[in-house]
Amino acid sequence: MTSPSPSDPCAAPGGLLTVDEARARLLDLARPVGGVEQLAIRSALGRVLAEPVISTLDVPPYVNSAMDGYAVRGADLPVEGEVRLRLVGKAMAGAPSDRAVGEGECIRIMTGAMMPEGADTVLMQEAVKVEEETVVVGPGHQPGENVRHKGEDMAIGDCVLEPGRRLLPADIGLLASLGIPEVRVHRRLRVAFFSTGDELVPLGRPLAPGQIYDSNRYTLHAMLTRLGVVLLDMGIIPDDREAVRAAFHDAMTQADVVMTSGGVSVGEADYVKQTLDELGKVDFWRMKMKPGKPLAAGRLGDALFFGLPGNPVSVMATFYQFVQPALLRMAGALPEEPLILKVRAAERLKKSPGRLEYQRGRLRRGADGEWEVVSTGRQGSHVLTSMSRADCFIILPAESGDVAAGETVEVQPFAGLV
Ligand code: AMP
Ligand code: MG
Repeated sequence: MTSPSPSDPCAAPGGLLTVDEARARLLDLARPVGGVEQLAIRSALGRVLAEPVISTLDVPPYVNSAMDGYAVRGADLPVEGEVRLRLVGKAMAGAPSDRAVGEGECIRIMTGAMMPEGADTVLMQEAVKVEEETVVVGPGHQPGENVRHKGEDMAIGDCVLEPGRRLLPADIGLLASLGIPEVRVHRRLRVAFFSTGDELVPLGRPLAPGQIYDSNRYTLHAMLTRLGVVLLDMGIIPDDREAVRAAFHDAMTQADVVMTSGGVSVGEADYVKQTLDELGKVDFWRMKMKPGKPLAAGRLGDALFFGLPGNPVSVMATFYQFVQPALLRMAGALPEEPLILKVRAAERLKKSPGRLEYQRGRLRRGADGEWEVVSTGRQGSHVLTSMSRADCFIILPAESGDVAAGETVEVQPFAGLV
C-alpha cells in the first residue's frame, strides 16, 4: 500500500483541513497514557496531578488577626465619642494569649496571631491612641473588622486541586500549607524526535555548499523541555532507506510519541513516507494554515506520530497549535483554553485570503495607552528571527485579506509569569 500523496488533497483521507478540523483530529488521536508516580511536592512543579487533592485541614487553622493592632470586643466599639479600653495582654504569631478579652478590655495583637477568647475585632494600631495601659478608640469601626476566619482559604473536605491540573508555583505552596509532602502525578511522556534531510549538518561541523545547520532539533528540544517530557534526541537521520527504518523502529518501541521535522512536504525524495506506511497508519494532511501547511499524524505501533514541516517557523507554529495540546492530553492534563486577546493593529498587515495565518507580532502600548501589535517584519516560514523577535502570534482568520492599521486583531501571547 502506498501512502496518499500530499500534493493531492483529495487523495488523503484528511485532505485539505481547516486548523480546527486538524486540531480536533489530533486531539482524538491523543489518548492519555497510563502510569502514575509519587513525588515530593518540590519535584512536582509542572507535572500533571493524577488525583484530587482534598483538604484535610482548615486553612487558616484558627481565627487570627489580619493586622498589627488591638483585639477588642465589637460590642465595646463606640458609635460616637471615645471609649477607653484596658490593655490586659498580648498575642503574637506563634504565641497566643492565655487571657481572654473581657468587657472594656483589649489585647495587643500581631498579624497572624490567634484571636484571644472574647475578642472578635482587630483595630489597626494606626487607628487608635495608646496612653500607657489604655487604648483610646474613636467611632467609625466595624465589629468583626481585620479578622481572618478559620477555613476561609480552604476548609476540611474542599477539593482544592483537580486531577489533570498542571501544578504551578502557587499549587506547590498550597500543598505545603495543607501539610501534604508528596503527590501522585502522571508519569512523564517519552518523546523521541529527529530531523530528516540530507542538507542538515549537526553543530560543530563546518557547512559545505548547499548545507544548513539543523536548528529544528534544538527548537524542539527547547519546546519539549518546557513541557516537561522525557527527551529522546535521535539526531539527524540520513535519507537512506535502512537508516530511516531503523530510526523509526527504535523510536516507536521506546517512546510514547515520535516526532520528525522535514520530509512531509510535496516533492520530498525520501523514505519517510514509505517507512511510515510500512510501520503504522499515518495520514498526510495539508492544512489551511500559514506557516505550516503540511502535517503528518497517526500511529506507529503504540506511539503517536507527528511529522512536522521542515521550515523552522512552521515547526514552532504547528508545535504550539497542534502538538502541545495533544501532548498535554496524552500526559493526562485537562484541556486548557489558549489565551487570545483582541488588540489594535498598529500598522497594515499583509495577508491573502485562503489560509489562517499565525503571523508573528510584538505587543506594545500605543500613544493613548492602549495595547497594540506590530509585525516582526519578514514573515517567511524560514525566517526564525520573526519568531525570536515576537512575543505573540497574530491570528488572522482564513477569509481575511490585508488588515488596515487601527483594525482589531486577535493575538495569542507566548508567555506569562514563569
Ligand atoms: P522539507 O519539508 O524537508 O522539504 O523542508 C522544508 C525546509 O525546511 C527546507 O528549506 C529545509 O532545508 C528546512 N529544514 C528541514 N529540516 C530542517 C532542520 N532540522 N533545521 C533547519 N531547517 C530545516
Ligand atoms: Mg527535507
